[in-house]
Amino acid sequence: MNWPYFNHSELACKGSDKCEMSDEFMQKIIAVREEFDKPMIITSGYRSPSYNESIGGAEYSPHMYGRAVDVQVYGQDALVLLKTALKHGLTGVGVKQHGEANSRFIHLDDMEASDMHFRPWIWSYS
Ligand SMILES: [Zn+2]
Repeated sequence: MNWPYFNHSELACKGSDKCEMSDEFMQKIIAVREEFDKPMIITSGYRSPSYNESIGGAEYSPHMYGRAVDVQVYGQDALVLLKTALKHGLTGVGVKQHGEANSRFIHLDDMEASDMHFRPWIWSYS
């Protein structure tokens, strides 16, 4: 599957190179990208379960369902991205905004509320 703005290498699993992103999720991210109107650097997209485990990802990480991206962003852009994401139906927001600027990111997903996922939900990373 091909989507505008984002390429295989940034969306694919860093371990398996598989890319099983949900098209429904990607349409939301594309709508966010169009309104944000700046490049969005994806540092993590799809993760195969074994890769997710190897990097200590959450047990039911939305990345394994192809319904999450981590976007490298900081400062004013981070706030604008957050506001835009909420407007386009993203329900899970993880914020890391401390440390080096290039290590700061915002995780976005669109999981529905379930036993495995509290949604809507915002959290921070240590
Ligand atoms: Zn993430």
